[in-house]
Amino acid sequence: MPELPEVEALAGYLRQRAVGRRVDRLEIAAISALKTYEPAPTEVAGRAVVDASRHGKFLDVLFEGGLHLVVHLARAGWLHYREAFPSTTPLRPGKGPIAVRVRLDDGSGFDLTEAGTQKKLAAYLVTDLAAVPGVAKLGPDALAADLPTFTERLRSRRGQVKGVLTDQSVLSGVGNAYSDEILHAAKLSPFAITDRLTDAQLATLHAATRQVLGDAVERSLGQRAAELKGEKRSGLKVHARTGLPCPVCGDTVREVSFADSSLQYCPTCQTGGKPLADRRLSRLVR
Ligand SMILES: [Zn+2]
Repeated sequence: MPELPEVEALAGYLRQRAVGRRVDRLEIAAISALKTYEPAPTEVAGRAVVDASRHGKFLDVLFEGGLHLVVHLARAGWLHYREAFPSTTPLRPGKGPIAVRVRLDDGSGFDLTEAGTQKKLAAYLVTDLAAVPGVAKLGPDALAADLPTFTERLRSRRGQVKGVLTDQSVLSGVGNAYSDEILHAAKLSPFAITDRLTDAQLATLHAATRQVLGDAVERSLGQRAAELKGEKRSGLKVHARTGLPCPVCGDTVREVSFADSSLQYCPTCQTGGKPLADRRLSRLVR
């Protein structure tokens, strides 16, 4: 699932490659992906790409005249930049993984794709960013937040730190993968309760957030957009590494499973050597 670092890198790539180019055509292949009716996709044709940026995990492509294409890539969405398209024939709706195609005046452009059968990618064409529900309620950016802001936001919500850190209205940009990495770097249990964290623990968590996200942005920025996904995996220490040794202490990375997700952590680094209860497993044992 693309999070802050990957989306930042995609925006950076679009700034380099697409800004200044004019749109030939915006094609919607997955009708359900486009969440807005007005302005119509045909309104984008002829406009130059002015900027590309990020709001939390949302990608924002700005066209001349103040029109934004805002995209949430969800779990399996991605952006593929094409130097050329195989054909000028418009995409046929409902075929394949391509949800949206943007053709530019130099023959290049990009596809927004979504793998798998669960279609959650969401695209919005708006003149006002506040019209995108997910963007309107975003908290401060997780990478940009200073220590006082970070502390205030984390303490504003009582709950398990993993859940609070990934709540986009508390801080924006962090998802399941980078929260595992940040908590590992901060040596905190994912189940630690936010309002019991000391000032020192919050300062460590803030530093870990900036370090982990900053490193991941740097790794991603040097990559071509098409290669970013692979790069994300190679930099991770605990996320998606269940059963493998922790690169910091050598203990075995463990996992807690939920209905439709899981978290990974290192017991020695994060929970005083004690494995966390896996509710699903303990129910089976009982
Ligand atoms: Zn460890």
